[in-house]
Amino acid sequence: MSVIILLILLFMLLGIMVFVGIYVYRDAQKRGMNALLWLLIALLTPSLLGLIIYLLVRGSYSDLKCPNCQNPVEENYMVCPNCQTRLRASCPNCNTPVQPSWKVCPQCADPLPENFGAVSAPVRPKDNTLWKILIAIIVIPVALIVLLVVLSFSSFRTNVTSQTTAVTAMPVDDYLAVSHQPEAIKDWLSHCASSPEQYHVLKFSSTQENYFDTQYLIYIPEAGEYTHSAHSYSSSFFSGPTLEIDLAGAENTGEQIVFLVLCSGDEKPEELKLTFNGKTKDLCTASTDEPIQPIDE
Ligand SMILES: [Zn+2]
Ligand SMILES: [Zn+2]
Repeated sequence: MSVIILLILLFMLLGIMVFVGIYVYRDAQKRGMNALLWLLIALLTPSLLGLIIYLLVRGSYSDLKCPNCQNPVEENYMVCPNCQTRLRASCPNCNTPVQPSWKVCPQCADPLPENFGAVSAPVRPKDNTLWKILIAIIVIPVALIVLLVVLSFSSFRTNVTSQTTAVTAMPVDDYLAVSHQPEAIKDWLSHCASSPEQYHVLKFSSTQENYFDTQYLIYIPEAGEYTHSAHSYSSSFFSGPTLEIDLAGAENTGEQIVFLVLCSGDEKPEELKLTFNGKTKDLCTASTDEPIQPIDE
């Protein structure tokens, strides 16, 4: 599942890179800069640093256009060289460019006419590409994070028609005394007792056609008075079927407890997640071929 997430991330990253690359290349070309060099800088520097550097150092260029024929024109052009549309007002005496609102020519001090006739000032088309890129850079990762959060919190079930889980608890000594345990399980329990801090799990699973029977024997070190347990069964986007067991009890009473968890149904738990008194515990997991004896009530 996480492979899909990685692929989506990679795809998004690639999309942003292509977007930035095209923008920088075209923009640098328009400004007469070394487009290929800037393309490489923009793509090969991490975290869009290249794009930021490019935006800071890029030279200005005239993006003015004749309002009549859209021919590129310069700031100081009086008429459009292409269609001869008058772009600026000028002094009738010395031809110095003037503002239509001015009363006298600043160059020759001649009075200027009230009306200059038809003057069509050059237009500057709006360039929204940079904004689009910045929005994409911000929006795409944010959207992706939201998507991941939503997916990680939404668990879903598929074709689970029956799934039952039972949790029972017993002190280790009682469990050994009451049931006639196979040697393998006795060995496992004595192995557990040799590492007193560790939480251990012994797993047995059997399959009959589409029906799975999974048994866990969970060893809790130094826990007495078992008080409560809850369990849930979930599949999420990120993990396979997971059996979550929450156990509670008094800690450090010096008594070892085993919990027997029986989980059966048409879905096989791939993972076991255990919390004891609200804390997730690392589990030392072993498997056995011997069915685990039920705990006698
Ligand atoms: Zn023109
Ligand atoms: Zn003048």
